[in-house]
Amino acid sequence: MKRLWPIVLPIKEDELLSSWIIRNSLANGSDPMTWSWFFWGKWRPWTIDIDRHCPKEKLLAISDNFFRIESLEQATLKPTILKVLGEQPPLKQAWPWLTRLGSRNRERTGGLRFCPECLKEDPVYFRKSWRLSWYHTCPKHDVLLQESCPSCSSPITPYKSDFDKPELHICKRCGFDVSLTKTECSSKKILQVQHLLNKAILNNNCHLPWNIESIAELFSTIRYFYEFFNLAAKGAINADLALCNKLDIDTSLRPTAITIENIDKSPPIWIRELDFAVSQLLFLSTREIVELFLECEMTGEGFRKSKESQPPIIQNILSSLPSNSRHRKSSSRTTKEVKPKSREEVWEMWLQLQEYLK
Ligand SMILES: [Zn+2]
Ligand SMILES: [Zn+2]
Repeated sequence: MKRLWPIVLPIKEDELLSSWIIRNSLANGSDPMTWSWFFWGKWRPWTIDIDRHCPKEKLLAISDNFFRIESLEQATLKPTILKVLGEQPPLKQAWPWLTRLGSRNRERTGGLRFCPECLKEDPVYFRKSWRLSWYHTCPKHDVLLQESCPSCSSPITPYKSDFDKPELHICKRCGFDVSLTKTECSSKKILQVQHLLNKAILNNNCHLPWNIESIAELFSTIRYFYEFFNLAAKGAINADLALCNKLDIDTSLRPTAITIENIDKSPPIWIRELDFAVSQLLFLSTREIVELFLECEMTGEGFRKSKESQPPIIQNILSSLPSNSRHRKSSSRTTKEVKPKSREEVWEMWLQLQEYLK
């Protein structure tokens, strides 16, 4: 049976389409630019995000009996985002929960994250999960993902590999081996939300918190909380500050440029902090979350981010919070104080929950 090219490297587990193409071109003595020109002619795949979506006719040109188009489609991020959204992702706009490469001609501004420890393993390849913005920590090595070369701060651009620098873990601008990036340990104790979202994607029967009924509803609820805590960490109103204090959020980690529109650009260290904030809510009922917000004197206006439609649990919380006009600072409440769990307690509860999730 004839192959499209002599040395065919299989797609590794969780490998990105672009990573697989780059590895195959180099293994056959080509570089990614020449390789793509040979199969795709004038079409310029490295100026767009082919891992987000690659046109079917382009995939057909590189599929054969060994590499069926279905497995190539699975190496893009579309099937995952389809599950996350529960509907077709928009054609032109940015996709929620996906990091952005920021392509300008052949240059990029970022978006391809990596675990330095994974890049030490053979073969070196880039994972799909590193492009998902809720993913802040490598679950295998427990270290924070990195976003750029620590030596020259450039984004990682493996598609620029050539005969001079064929190794995927070598920075194409300065030659630094990015697998040697100093790693920051990320305790398993603060990746509950990442773990839950991964589990929801992989297992359709996963138990979901707060009586949530679908994976898409889970993602939109977590996203609402992420966007809310990202805003609250600015501390614009006293209720924001009180809530951040209560949940022990390190607001100094919040990058000033991160807004609702570009929250998927948040560095892994900030997503990890948002993960920790929301993981404390995972162990509270909706009623307890409302009580916690009331203690912090949060109003409906304070918790409402925009006029867009909200997931059911968020609507529930919003309808239970007072509006600014009704709000009295000294209002007497009869509810008992809700005390968020410490990091240690959250971890203990998480261990118990994991038993339940199995
Ligand atoms: Zn790793
Ligand atoms: Zn560099």
